Amino acid sequence: MILIMGIAGSGKGTQGKLLADKYGYHLLSTGDLVRKYATEKQRERMLSGDLLADDEIIAMVDECLRSLPDDKEVIFDGFPRTIPQAQWLLDQVKAGRIDLKKTFHLIASREAVKDRLKYRARDDDVDHAIEQRFEEYAKSTAPILNWLKDQNVDVVEIKAEQSVEKVHQDIISNLK
Ligand code: AMP
Repeated sequence: MILIMGIAGSGKGTQGKLLADKYGYHLLSTGDLVRKYATEKQRERMLSGDLLADDEIIAMVDECLRSLPDDKEVIFDGFPRTIPQAQWLLDQVKAGRIDLKKTFHLIASREAVKDRLKYRARDDDVDHAIEQRFEEYAKSTAPILNWLKDQNVDVVEIKAEQSVEKVHQDIISNLK
């Protein structure tokens, strides 16, 4: 399993897809799962830029992992986003259900990604929801990176304001 972490607009989905296409890995995007399967209430949270509850997201991820062959390499885009989610994931690793190959942190400033998000124009790419996602990231998700390092997980930092192709190459060179 490969984790791709980073603020909204840092390129997690784009880079995850490039990697999945290149190596035949399965891209597990919790954002895509939410957009596909969310209840009306969950969709409201998503549109305002709030995170969904840990148990709801974990249930979606758990079900998705169950549907995949055991030996399928999985790239996580947008998960984990909180310490309890990260704890659950490491528990799965410890239980031998999945392995953790690499964690990438795509580093980009809020200013740099704002234009990308506006251009992408998803339903939740409006000013107040973008700001809320940045806040959620700072509060709930960013602390995971240090927490993972404390658990001896190697986190590779990638400069994500470079071109898509250059970021992709940087990721690949760290997978070899
Ligand atoms: P994304 O496509 O990764 O930007 O996710 C879009 C939205 O789905 C987020 O703003 C959250 O509302 C929800 N979401 C996606 N992944 C998670 C997660 N791991 N935990 C909680 N909420 C999530």
